[in-house]
Amino acid sequence: MGSLNILWQVRKLEKAQRRSIHEIERVRAERFGRILKHALTNSRFYREYYGDHGINLDNAHEIPIERIPTIDKNFMMENFDDFVCDPKLKRAELEKFVSDPAHRCRSYLGRYHVVHTSGSSGTIGLFIYGPGDWDILMAMVLARVTRTRINFRRKIRMAYIGATDGNYAGISLAGYAPRFLYRFLPLHINSPIEEIVARIQEFQPHSISGYSSGAYILAKEQLAGRLRISPKKIVCSADHLTPKIRETIRRAFGVDPVAFYAASESIAMAAECAAHQGFHLFDDWHVFQLVDKDRNPVPAGQPGRVILTNLYNYTQPLIRYEMNDVLVLNEEPCACSWPSPTIQSIGGRSEDFLWFDKPDGTKDFIHPLVMVEFMVLGLRKIQVVQTQRNRLILRSVLHGDRDVVCERIRRRMHEVLKSKDLQNVVEFDIEIVDRIENDPKTGKYKLIIPFKP
Ligand SMILES: [Zn+2]
Repeated sequence: MGSLNILWQVRKLEKAQRRSIHEIERVRAERFGRILKHALTNSRFYREYYGDHGINLDNAHEIPIERIPTIDKNFMMENFDDFVCDPKLKRAELEKFVSDPAHRCRSYLGRYHVVHTSGSSGTIGLFIYGPGDWDILMAMVLARVTRTRINFRRKIRMAYIGATDGNYAGISLAGYAPRFLYRFLPLHINSPIEEIVARIQEFQPHSISGYSSGAYILAKEQLAGRLRISPKKIVCSADHLTPKIRETIRRAFGVDPVAFYAASESIAMAAECAAHQGFHLFDDWHVFQLVDKDRNPVPAGQPGRVILTNLYNYTQPLIRYEMNDVLVLNEEPCACSWPSPTIQSIGGRSEDFLWFDKPDGTKDFIHPLVMVEFMVLGLRKIQVVQTQRNRLILRSVLHGDRDVVCERIRRRMHEVLKSKDLQNVVEFDIEIVDRIENDPKTGKYKLIIPFKP
């Protein structure tokens, strides 16, 4: 049923792009009403939380969206078992599931896609998509991000470069791309670069997806003459596709890369069109509200933090969910025919790479997203402090038995270093702390504090 449903959804989405703004608004309002009702009926958390604010099944349809109380990741995770709409989903079991390497890119109970992240707040989050939810997400990606032309006779060879050693958003999306359309090669960003080059050279992908910085590394290898591939499509997300990266990719492959906006909360929220005037919001399947620090709406042209409502996830409904992402809405409509408003840029995280000196005089790095997605059972928050060039302190907030959790952190970190062949080069210690303060300069949590000689 999956593949047929996806194809059907792709058709619907392509049609939806030709709707008027007015029609999109109507569809969005209808979908919002439906998911609100679903949450009030099937989630004990929403029933009680909204109930405390005087909102119930009888009056929910009359309440303006701005009056519906917000939630955030911490609040959601604290109430996880009551939050989700299927009583079979339990936080403790799911945390165990995602921390077992044997479960990477495997569905839970043969049915659910489980995505985990520590995200920019540093708190570990779990996001569950049921089969129907996932089909809509996948259709959105095929119709609006990769714009895949469906051809049953020729499979597309797709390489993905990013963190592949967990159930993260990016690899989950790419790894579950429909098998009737794709052959798939996952490349771990934390592998030695020569190994990545050798594998992708042999695979000769038609398309590349993954981290912008990953595509950039491949472009530089191609320009240096160490790699010879000719992808026709390059789709980037996760870290920022800067003008420099874009230009390098164009020079290396003669392909204009396409960026899209994704998070674990919804793995496809906006994408660039051919006009490259910004990212069109997928505003038929999401409600995006951009607000200031007092949660008042900000006008187009002004940066605003996103309050997101995901309109297709009926397993773990995210309604008025506060993200840390800051977006700016464009005032002018895009030159193309797609009526959905565009955002200028995605003010995502900007964490530093960790660079190390190798004994042979070369350098290698650990990508910040590898540390963003560093997860072991019982680790609640982490900060990596590079005290010397080849020395790290892992400041860790723990939950549970400290010896057991420390051992898990040590093992996981060793794995990270080993996959880069840095296990004998970089030393690290774990420092257990009660909390990790935000950076006093920016007021934001900083995951990586790099070495400043
Ligand atoms: Zn456009």
